[in-house]
Formats: sequence, structure tokens, C-alpha cells
Amino acid sequence: MKAVLRPLYYRLPATLCYGKNFAPTLQLLRQSQYWSAERLYDYQLTKLRAMLRHCAANVPYYRRLFRQVGFDPQQVRSLADLQRLPLLDKATVRDHLKDLIAENLRPHQMHYFTTGGTMGVPLGFYNTRDAGGRERAFMVAQWERLGFDYRERRAMLRGTPIKSSRHWQYDPSERAFVFSNFHMTATNVAEYARVMQEKHLPYLHSYPSAVIDFARLLQSQKLAPPPFKAILASSETVYPGQREFVEAVFKARLFSWYGHSEDVVLAGECEVSSDYHIFAEYSIVEVLKEDGSLASVEGEAGELIGSALDNFAMPLIRYRTDDWAVLGRARCACGRNYQLLKETRGRRQDMIIGRLDNLISPTALNFHTDVFDRVLQVQFYQREKGKVELRIKRRDDYTAQDSANILAALNEKMGDTVATTLHFVPDIPLSPSGKARLVIQELPIPQIGTTVNREQRSVKREA
Ligand SMILES: [Zn+2]
Repeated sequence: MKAVLRPLYYRLPATLCYGKNFAPTLQLLRQSQYWSAERLYDYQLTKLRAMLRHCAANVPYYRRLFRQVGFDPQQVRSLADLQRLPLLDKATVRDHLKDLIAENLRPHQMHYFTTGGTMGVPLGFYNTRDAGGRERAFMVAQWERLGFDYRERRAMLRGTPIKSSRHWQYDPSERAFVFSNFHMTATNVAEYARVMQEKHLPYLHSYPSAVIDFARLLQSQKLAPPPFKAILASSETVYPGQREFVEAVFKARLFSWYGHSEDVVLAGECEVSSDYHIFAEYSIVEVLKEDGSLASVEGEAGELIGSALDNFAMPLIRYRTDDWAVLGRARCACGRNYQLLKETRGRRQDMIIGRLDNLISPTALNFHTDVFDRVLQVQFYQREKGKVELRIKRRDDYTAQDSANILAALNEKMGDTVATTLHFVPDIPLSPSGKARLVIQELPIPQIGTTVNREQRSVKREA
């Protein structure tokens, strides 16, 4: 019965089926994107003060922390006051998960997630149950900069597991035809392209790596790319050359944005620029330089630190994303007064190579499932095509059932193109720069888009 009703439910206006936050949030963002810098600041300060008062009243972790450092939320007069609080890292979240949950919310008002984070360390966290509608409104608000209409259907080529043997299906909740990027091979890329064209899907929502792989396969099969108005791509860094390659193949704009499941930073491009515009309505973002001071000048790089303004279930204040970014110009020609990032860095880009030369992004294996709950750290190691070793640092309560669940989850995602073996290790060594790497790839990853790049560079020089 549920299977019958689900598609009907999602034919209701989006304002109804996406929850009570969707419509008001979208309405706000359509206005607030053109607010003055002062008005955005006041909006943030009001929300921050409410959040900090909530932390003091209802969240044991912050109650204790505020007492230890002598911080009084009632005394907060400016956003700079936030810097009197210490940073919150992923290990602290993991060790104090229970204490970070607000006492005044009931379990049914919360939603539990896990994420791979950016260091390959599985991490669980909570958000309010109604957060999804708000998040969707932010997504729609930035896509609207390209003319996107949320009532339209789109193509999705991301890490979504698909039951169907044809590796694509319609998902009514997303209003999207979803294609498996785990099964994107020379043989079925023609079918993907045909369906995308026949269904008249104006937008492709993907990972940068997946759309690049798609473009590469279309070229190798001499197939015409579907006529997209734009490619919407996130969850991975867009490296130099990749944007040019995708835009040249599809003759469409690549629109990229940056965010994570923890909902502490969201920043997207606009209609006139590929700088990332940080949503002031979403969170308070600091770019912290290596010496601990705030980046304030264009070109300065630092770690992204985010304080969420809407997650009252598990407030994340000054949360370390482990991702690096470079500050952009002071203002954009689009007229929005959002802070700009020139680029975001630090997301793993290593990929796993499948038996059929298919590239699998670890972003697609991003552990949004509870099967990694009893695992401390993981790392993929590959030295042979179609085979990967998953190194696991177990938690004490890890059992054989966890191994079975992990293998089942990976097989569901990577299917028959990669054989995974588990290998338990006491420790996973860090890289020379002190970071854990999710993928150690011994095989060469095909370089993509270099030809187009060279041509474009020479065109630019002539001009
Ligand atoms: Zn702009």
C-alpha cells in the first residue's frame, strides 16, 4: 500500500510534501539573498543568540563548556563573541554524542545520521526531524539562480543504490530519474543518455567525478550528450580543468556548491560567478588560518569552521569541517552580500577503479548508513583493478555481523564491478600532512579533460 501511495503523495505541491519548513524558508531566501550586509548580520546575530541560549539551557555539553570558559550567552553582543568559545572537532562530537543532544527534544523530533566526515572516520549526529524541508529550500534557492524550477523533474547521477537491473529508476520524492553511477559503463551509458533525452530532463544533478566519467564515456562511444540547461554538481572539489571539460562536452553551465551532511556550511555559485557564496541564513562561517587567526583578505586560505543556526537537536558550534577554503573577493556583481570563497579544498578526490574501468567516487560510498557505527576508521587500498581492500580499525564492540553488514552495503553500492575484502588493522597511519586518507590508490587514475583544457588555454592566449 505504501509503495502505491508514495508516488501519489509526492505529486502533491512541494509546499505540502516537503514539510512545513520548505515553503517559508524558500520564501525567506528569495528575499534575504538581496538584503544588505547589515541586515544579514543582524539576522545572524539574533539567531546565534537564540541558539546559544538554547545550548546553555538544554545541552549538557555546552552547559559544562560555558561554565568552564566563563561564557555567558546573555552577554553576546556581536558575532565576534563566538570566538571566545573553543573549536569543536569530530573526535569530540564522537566522544560526547549523548551530551550534545538537546534535553528538551523528544526522540521522535530528531533524526540520526552518520557520515564519513572528511577523514574517513565514521561519525554519527542528530538533526531535527523537520530539517529536510529547510535543507531542500536552500538547495532550490541556489539552483533558482540558474532558472531551476522545483516542480520540474531532473536527472540524478549520484551514489544512490538502485534495485532495478537496468540501474535507473524514477524517485518521486526527489522528482528525479536516478541513475546509478556505480554501474556507469561503456555498455549502459547509451541507455542512460537515451532516457535522459527522452524524458526531457533539463538538469543533471551529480558529483563532479560522476559527470566527468559520464562525459568521458559519451565521448568514447561517440554519443551526443543529453541537452541539459545546466549540470548541478556538489560533494567533491571541482579541480582546475574539470569545469571546462564538463562545460565543453555538455555545452552547459556547471554549477557547483559546497556543503556537508552536518549542515554547518552551505555555499554555492551564482548566475555570474563561480565563487562560492556562503549562505548567511544557514550558519555562521569562519575561515581560520593555520595560525588560528581569521582569514579576512582575498586569497587567504584556512579551515572552514561552521556554527549551525537551525539544528536545535544537536547544536554544532564552531564545528571544524577539516576542509580548507580560499577567501574570495569582497563583493560579487550579482548584488548578493554573502561572503565569498574562491575555492574549496581538502575533499578526497581519490577514486576506486572498477572491473569495467568505471571510476567510483568514495563520496558515493559516504557511509550514510549505520553499518559503520562500530568502526573507528576505514581506508580503501587498491592496487588491482576491480579489487579493493577495506582496512578497518574496529571499535571494541565490533562483531562478525558488522563485517557481514559492511560487505553487504558495499556490494549493494559497487555491485559486481569491485570485489571488496576486509582487513583489520590496529591503526591507520596518517599522511605526511597529518591527515587520514580515505583511499590509498596505487593505480593511475585516468586524467580527464586535459585535451580540452589545452585547447581552451591556447584560445585564451590568442584572444
Ligand atoms: Zn554572485
